[in-house]
Amino acid sequence: MPQEQTLILFKPDAIQRRLIGALLSRIENKGYKIAGLKMLQVTPELARKHYEEHVEKPFYPHLESFITSAPVVALVVEGPDAISVMRTMMGSTNGREANPGTIRGDYGTSRQMNLIHGSDGPEAAKREIPIYFQDNELCEYSLSLAASLMAAD
Ligand code: GDP
Ligand code: MG
Repeated sequence: MPQEQTLILFKPDAIQRRLIGALLSRIENKGYKIAGLKMLQVTPELARKHYEEHVEKPFYPHLESFITSAPVVALVVEGPDAISVMRTMMGSTNGREANPGTIRGDYGTSRQMNLIHGSDGPEAAKREIPIYFQDNELCEYSLSLAASLMAAD
């Protein structure tokens, strides 16, 4: 099973709605490890770097205003198939289309203010993690229960 790291953001709407604890609990309850965690204010420059693929799209100015409107919480989440499993846990981009049981499906009705970002593949994770975290800001440690769960897979 590939041990993967993925870049997760709790977006400004999650912070405004006091959902940091609720969202973090979902990730911890799933069994994933938090390898890095910080709160920061996204600047327009950082937003353009992160959302490189969307900068030319008509909705980008709205997305930039939104993502810079309040702090975000950035995390590196680690574990087996963390990238795709976190995407499944997040649900579809549009909260109105996201399945119940997913974060976006349970907490929102907006396509833009959809609470959470997660890298959409290994290449994206490799590009996005260093945008938010230096190597020495990521912690290596073991979760003993996670190790025994994986041994039983
Ligand atoms: P994601 O990978 O599911 O987050 O979705 P995308 O990569 O397609 O888009 C990045 C982010 O831009 C989304 O999470 C939304 O916050 C926002 N977004 C996507 N599509 C639209 C749109 O059509 N309009 C607006 N206003 N925001 C959008
Ligand atoms: Mg995306």
